[in-house]
Amino acid sequence: MDETKKIEKMWKKPEAGSFNVAPAGWREISQDKFAALFFAYSPDHEEYRQIHRTIDGQSCLIDNIFLTTRLYWYRDGTGLAMVNVYSKQTGYKHQIRYFAFGCDHQYAERSAAELRERGIHIIMTGRCIHHYECEKCGHVHTVDSSD
Ligand SMILES: [Zn+2]
Repeated sequence: MDETKKIEKMWKKPEAGSFNVAPAGWREISQDKFAALFFAYSPDHEEYRQIHRTIDGQSCLIDNIFLTTRLYWYRDGTGLAMVNVYSKQTGYKHQIRYFAFGCDHQYAERSAAELRERGIHIIMTGRCIHHYECEKCGHVHTVDSSD
């Protein structure tokens, strides 16, 4: 399966939610954290939703209204979102709130040999190549630290 098809399939998994349902791992984050992540990594896909509940059925309305949301999906199945809150409580002024979704990765460095032994295919090797594995979901991320 080519990479584009794999990514499209990931966005259609049940944990991705649907038009009115937030993706798994839905959590509010600070504007500072949003900016640090959003301007460091390029999303692969953008989506518009009107969200009223989380994937496990919890209401996530703000000021008792649906969340008018722009979601930005990344290749690893995580993402960032901006919610436009416009309500009586905001004085009918637009306020942006920031969210993240998917796994809140906690990476630990792994050697290429260790990953290969476990059947995880590693293409890049070398002294400046570092492999990280999320201890929660198993996502592997490789970074070339050379300049
Ligand atoms: Zn993870």
